Amino acid sequence: MSKWVYLFTEGGKEQKELLGGKGANLAEMTKAGLPVPPGFTISTEACSAFYKEGKELPEEAWGQSLEALKKVEEQTGKKFGDPQNPLLVSVRSGAAVSMPGMMDTVLNLGLNEETVQGLAKLTANERFAYDAYRRFMHMFGNVVMGIPKDEFEKKLVAIKEAKGVKLDTELGVEDLQKVIAANKEVYRQHTGQDFPQDPLEQLRLSIKAVFGSWNSKRAIEYRRFQNLDNLAGTAVNVQTMVFGNMGDDSGTGVAFTRDPATGEKVLYGEYLTNAQGEDVVAGIRTPKKIAELETQMPEVYRQFVEITQKLEQHYREMQDMEFTIEKGTLYMLQTRTGKRTAAAAVKIAYDMVQEKLITKEEALLRVTPEQVDQLLHPRIDPGAKVEVIAKGINASPGAASGKVVFSADKAADMGRDGEKVILVRPETNPDDIHGMIGAQGVLTQHGGATSHAAVVARGIGKPCVAGCEDIRVDEEAGHFSAGEAVVKEGEVITLNGSTGEVILGRVAMIEPEMSPELKTMLTWANEVKRLGVWANADYPKDARQAREYGAEGIGLCRTEHMFFEEERRPIVVKMIMAETEEERQRFLDQLLPFQREDFTGLFEAMDGLPVIIRLIDPPMHEFLPTKEELLQEVTKLRCEGSHPAELAAKEAILKVVENLWETNPMLGLRGCRAGIIYKGLTEMQCRAIMEAACEVTQKGLKALPKIEIPLVAHVNEFRREKEKLSRVAEEVLQEKGVKVEYEIGSMVETPRAALTASELAPEADFFSFGTNDLTQMTFGISRDDAEGKFLLQYVEEGILEKNPFQTLDQTGVGRLMKAFVKESREVKPGVEVGICGEHGGDPESVKFCHQVGLDYVSCSPFRVPIARLAAAQAVLESSQ
Ligand code: PEP
Ligand code: MG
Repeated sequence: MSKWVYLFTEGGKEQKELLGGKGANLAEMTKAGLPVPPGFTISTEACSAFYKEGKELPEEAWGQSLEALKKVEEQTGKKFGDPQNPLLVSVRSGAAVSMPGMMDTVLNLGLNEETVQGLAKLTANERFAYDAYRRFMHMFGNVVMGIPKDEFEKKLVAIKEAKGVKLDTELGVEDLQKVIAANKEVYRQHTGQDFPQDPLEQLRLSIKAVFGSWNSKRAIEYRRFQNLDNLAGTAVNVQTMVFGNMGDDSGTGVAFTRDPATGEKVLYGEYLTNAQGEDVVAGIRTPKKIAELETQMPEVYRQFVEITQKLEQHYREMQDMEFTIEKGTLYMLQTRTGKRTAAAAVKIAYDMVQEKLITKEEALLRVTPEQVDQLLHPRIDPGAKVEVIAKGINASPGAASGKVVFSADKAADMGRDGEKVILVRPETNPDDIHGMIGAQGVLTQHGGATSHAAVVARGIGKPCVAGCEDIRVDEEAGHFSAGEAVVKEGEVITLNGSTGEVILGRVAMIEPEMSPELKTMLTWANEVKRLGVWANADYPKDARQAREYGAEGIGLCRTEHMFFEEERRPIVVKMIMAETEEERQRFLDQLLPFQREDFTGLFEAMDGLPVIIRLIDPPMHEFLPTKEELLQEVTKLRCEGSHPAELAAKEAILKVVENLWETNPMLGLRGCRAGIIYKGLTEMQCRAIMEAACEVTQKGLKALPKIEIPLVAHVNEFRREKEKLSRVAEEVLQEKGVKVEYEIGSMVETPRAALTASELAPEADFFSFGTNDLTQMTFGISRDDAEGKFLLQYVEEGILEKNPFQTLDQTGVGRLMKAFVKESREVKPGVEVGICGEHGGDPESVKFCHQVGLDYVSCSPFRVPIARLAAAQAVLESSQ
């Protein structure tokens, strides 16, 4: 017989996979002697079995649930379905990883026509009992039977209106009985059956519904977005109900041991008096700050603070807790690792090291490279003039501008089409998740800092302003108003999630800075990591930025970018069009000073660090106007017949363009092939590099030039270019009488190069994987064409797990890399091999590069901090 069901007294925090996070932590808290209402957990294995059996609960699991229920009855002294002393339970989901609001919950289960009266007598509170019953009917009807919430809601509103009241709490016993009668009718209409009176039947159906919600659309969407594809399923927790809605000495709330937005070490949270848990997260009433509990219920507050501290010390992690106070008695309903913003993740990890709660290594694993990425996102320029039209709760930091959209579907669609939108809702519910993912930011009229919108936004790193009661959202009219302002759908607003401000129009943003905590943590990363982290930079400004972010060298300077600049391009065009070698040389001579100046700046910025300068790479026609453009102009000039000189000039360019035209330019005359065919080009670039290096050396700085030959496929190409480079380099050093150490290396970006390490290694001083081209050529997929066309569909349909141009394809491209590293080092032990393709800044790919034994990764300056953390995590994870 398998064990499917575990009492809270049986489990522990290590059993997350089996009991889900919520179940494991409830057991852990029970074990620690905290006030947890008794209950049991049906395991995630039962969820898998449920789906295997065609959405049926295994009989054994049901049998064990009934036994566990008996134990809970003993523990509480109450009995399920007993009209004298009824036990009521909640039925909640809980997977190994928390998925806030994505699955279903049923509360107040066990109520029927008889037990409701028992409850009324027992609590001496008729109103409370009938209120609980009507809530249960509503929830059960919706969650278990799929009756739209609105159907119940409409009846409730009608009864309130008939009585002339606004709040649910203003309804008396008779009104509630009317609501119950109306609920029964709704239930019968939709299901053709009477509302079930047998509590065991209620329980069985609810357990099935919660298991069923594992595969709801929103849960699947959430898992896909969060890359949670290896979870077994959800567990189901059946727990004794305690009531926060039994009067003003009762309440319920959510709290974090530290501020989840900033990371500051303060108890952070909200509660509502005389309310049930769902009221807080649903954001219907705006709750009070947790600090107010101290004045309202000092003894409960003191006990609560003590428990929260105990929990944080015990788990050594920031906790997110749910609690309920029933008639002055505190109960803990949940504790889990709290979701937090990127800024908070860094601050909390850093602070916990200072508090000696965790080690530096643990801290490095508590922040994800993606969070570091978020921190390097823009924020509103403090000097910008802004028109603030409303202010709400600063629920998730960062800033974003976009067009106002009122529906989640529309936000998702427009977001997919690359439009920047802000999702504006009265409040959000879990069905809006796809819209939140598609939007740049989220604005809600109702709900607090722990409402669904806020929790999800923080989790996915989008700015969010919640509970913005200054605005009135009118979806039907297609606008929202804020005081005088009326903002229509499609108009642009800006959200400042860090201050809660809603701003009209688009606003200037500034690049972010690293916090002192992050800087320190990255120095810890440097102590741990083995991989070097270099940067791809073409200009001194970028090189300086990279160095500030901790780059240890330049792994790629793409020299062609210098050719595209305005004052140089006409010279480049003439150089390409030159008919004789002398003519070409004349223009190359004109380009030389420009190039020398660029390189001088780069060497100065990187004083003492290696700088890899790659010779010109793209096909030459890219510097010329397009054929279509020229054809049009030439035709026009021919018709006009009035500008013969201009016509002749254009015709000459057209001829060259036609000559250079290639069917597959990416596989054509580019890289070292261009250097070989265009005489003098390589020599000019080499001279510029070496002259710059000499100049910088003469100034007393240290230049470490590494000249790199692109797109090598055959060793003879490398040899041909190397011969020129060595000759010119030596010439320059002789002329200048300066000593500069330089190296000549090769890109490895064609499959043939990757397969011929033994031929290349004896010739080259260093290698760098150009995984953009290597991926393109290994897959035979043109990157520039495919990304906008079929590649996304490939990923959506699961043909490819990820976009291989973002995350390295370890199986295919990675295999070529491994082979090259192994073979090259057999021939030349210790030869330097790095990577400078886009993958050098992708955390997963960085970790692969560590495993393969590369010397460094090189990425764009803004990704340097991300790569540093990923490189450290690679070491820590491999030793775990
Ligand atoms: C590469 O191919 O990975 C590379 C770095 O070169 P580029 O992106 O300039 O082709
Ligand atoms: Mg390339």
